Amino acid sequence: AYAHGKQSEIEELKQLAKFRRQFLADVSHELKTPIFAAQGFVHTLLDGAIDDKKNRMKFLKRAAKNLDGLDMLVQDLLTVSHMEAGDITMHLEPVNLCEMIFEIFDQMENNAQKTDITLKMNHERDEIIKVKADEQRIYQVLVNLITNAIKYSDEGGVVEVSVVDLGERQQVIVKDTGIGIPPEHLNRIFERFYRVDKSRARAIGGTGLGLSIVKHIVEAHDSDIHVKSTPGEGSEFSFELDKYIAQ
Ligand code: ADP
Repeated sequence: AYAHGKQSEIEELKQLAKFRRQFLADVSHELKTPIFAAQGFVHTLLDGAIDDKKNRMKFLKRAAKNLDGLDMLVQDLLTVSHMEAGDITMHLEPVNLCEMIFEIFDQMENNAQKTDITLKMNHERDEIIKVKADEQRIYQVLVNLITNAIKYSDEGGVVEVSVVDLGERQQVIVKDTGIGIPPEHLNRIFERFYRVDKSRARAIGGTGLGLSIVKHIVEAHDSDIHVKSTPGEGSEFSFELDKYIAQ
């Protein structure tokens, strides 16, 4: 039994080492993509190859966009590494979901790249639905899910957030009428850097870490994250939060 235990321990360590190698390789690759792109634009400008001002601006904007993406990626990487190291403390406090969801809607509408997507909610702006949650982290979960719902929808789409009373908990559902996810990818989209359509996801923008962050945070709130999706029809992500009951 001892020998067997030792053996499986070694296997586990080997597996862990393999994981770390793979993660480093993934991270390097993800970092390289925006760095290469920004470098290309900046060096082309430095070479003096672009004569007119309008095109120079275009190149600068592209370089800036890649640097912004790089910044987001590093931020998400730090979040993920803290969470995986287990060093996150949840600050549970009463949070009004209605207020938070409408605040996010306002923000999305202000800096909307796609203006033709309708954001809906199954409650009024001034309703109060209190849950016990880490405010900043649940905000991030909702932003990530709603951003994805918009990103992976075509013009004319509808994104609907619902909060459903389940008795002791409130269920939060983010539903879109977007491109959907093929069933064979469904259980992998929460993995770091996993993307259904690499080139499409890259073109749309995003770090590839959004859903793994969502999963970590939701699990830290003693819930699971669920997904249902039909290609060509849309997707639905849901999780639950404890109701806040005033003492
Ligand atoms: P990304 O930055 O690529 O959006 P995420 O971790 O947020 O990274 O999502 C992982 C992948 O899951 C996406 O690349 C996309 O393929 C798929 N995905 C996530 N949300 C949706 C959605 N609402 N509709 C369709 N596909 C989605």
